[in-house]
Amino acid sequence: MQGLMMDVPLLLTAIMNHADQNHPNQEIVSVTADNPLHRYTFTDCFSRARKLANVFNTLGAGADARIGTFAWNDYRHMELYFSISCSGRICHTINPRLFAEQLIYIINHAEDEFIFVDPMFVELLEEIAADCPQIKGYIVLTDAANMPESSLPNVMCYETLLAAESDAFEWPELEENTAAGLCYTSGTTGNPKGALYSHRSTVLHTYGQALPDTMGISALDCVLPIVPMFHVGAWGFPFAGAMVGTKFVMPGASLSDPKMLVDLINDEGVTISAGVPTVWLPVLKYVKETGRNLKPLRKTAIGGSACPLSMMEEFRDLYGVQVVHAWGMTETNPLGAANNHKPATATLTGEALERHLQSAGRAVPGVQLKIVDDDGEELPWDGVAFGALKVRGPWVCATYFNLDQPSEAHAEPGWFDTGDVATIDAEGFIRITDRTKDVIKSGGEWISSIDLENVAMGHSAVAEAAVIGIHHPKWQERPLLVVVKVDGAAVEARELIDYFDGKVAKWWIPDDVAFVDEIPHTATGKISKLALRGMFAEYVLPETSAR
Ligand code: ADP
Repeated sequence: MQGLMMDVPLLLTAIMNHADQNHPNQEIVSVTADNPLHRYTFTDCFSRARKLANVFNTLGAGADARIGTFAWNDYRHMELYFSISCSGRICHTINPRLFAEQLIYIINHAEDEFIFVDPMFVELLEEIAADCPQIKGYIVLTDAANMPESSLPNVMCYETLLAAESDAFEWPELEENTAAGLCYTSGTTGNPKGALYSHRSTVLHTYGQALPDTMGISALDCVLPIVPMFHVGAWGFPFAGAMVGTKFVMPGASLSDPKMLVDLINDEGVTISAGVPTVWLPVLKYVKETGRNLKPLRKTAIGGSACPLSMMEEFRDLYGVQVVHAWGMTETNPLGAANNHKPATATLTGEALERHLQSAGRAVPGVQLKIVDDDGEELPWDGVAFGALKVRGPWVCATYFNLDQPSEAHAEPGWFDTGDVATIDAEGFIRITDRTKDVIKSGGEWISSIDLENVAMGHSAVAEAAVIGIHHPKWQERPLLVVVKVDGAAVEARELIDYFDGKVAKWWIPDDVAFVDEIPHTATGKISKLALRGMFAEYVLPETSAR
């Protein structure tokens, strides 16, 4: 027997219309290249989104065109998010920090028809435009007065195009599985792969994200997404914030400008933010050095890579900010798990609490998790057994976009192999040990580079730490700790190695420490283990090593 409820499709259009009707006067504040502090309301945003939908028709964009965006977090990108998807087209956010070959591959593979680009990325596109012949036009996200000179073919001005259109537009009633967004993994091995989100997957993700035990956001919040809108939809904040009616503060190109971020947090009353650990390091350093504060901020989501315990404690103890340690990936739209207390953990103290905080959380309702051994057998949820982390759920990628052959990650029907290694405890909290390819194999056992990095980050002389496996004649691999020192700190390798005593198993302790000026990062701001392994390819561990 069928249920007798209305079969209303789950569409981003419904989120937009709800925001438009129920929160018309909520503000979106943006830093853009042509305006240091632009302000307008949800009503303005959605009215311009309708004009933009008319622009797509005028330009002759196909009914399911992939439309590329090359842009920072600001109100114009917000308009693009809603207008592209709600008009039935696919918003393909492109990470401008990728290499030229990757960009060319992605744009051609997606068969993008148009690209909307921030002025500062115009030059970047000029270099690759000849290799992307199918692009019918480039639209620069600025007004006529600020249009840059450009050799791009068929280059147009965003504000000029909008000004020519009416804001009358009837959004189509789409089928809920219609594709809405496209984001490519950064492809550290092989070509990038596209995760193609649907309206349904993103709407369900949005509900999951807003829940109290995920991000817990409300109409009284003010959201500053530091995570870029060009990567996995800024972790879904543009949709979740619109749905619940938060104020938005969009930092534009200032994502890595600590002063600007701290100004915005204080001046605009930001209560919730989100970003990878590496964007927070300079912010915390700046706040400490200047004696400023983060008063309005009540919590921030940190994920994308393991958040060091020292960072969570600094946020909590010095600034009263709760860190929601979260886990996810491009293929999970992206949120899979978030660490918020439940009765069994709320009273933890001391080391038990410290250990608990390092968990990347428990499954967001809707996402199922399991860990399996090499034979695919499910492992117990005891917090000890670790294995390949697999996920399933309505916002998990079922297959990659236009791939010639099914990916290995989808080998088990109905499940996606995340490429992460994890434990799950009896309360459902996961702890990411490593990416499968980063795990250090020593004497047939595995060492977690994430756990070692976490310990190193607790040392006051360490600004940033990464651990990689180095070939060892007897043990196969041994850990090398790579460290960027805090400015002016004097610390020797021996002291750092001794610092691990009693904090991890003896045989896990790194064999050596290499001091560097800078640790390489990926296009998404994470530590690039691949580049580090390249840097230390010829590295020979000291003779005395081998525990
Ligand atoms: P890319 O790094 O290629 O841009 P994603 O942004 O999709 O790809 O990254 C997803 C990966 O980031 C996960 O598979 C996992 O390895 C890592 N990750 C995400 N959140 C966490 C976390 N809280 N702790 C440890 N690793 C994490």
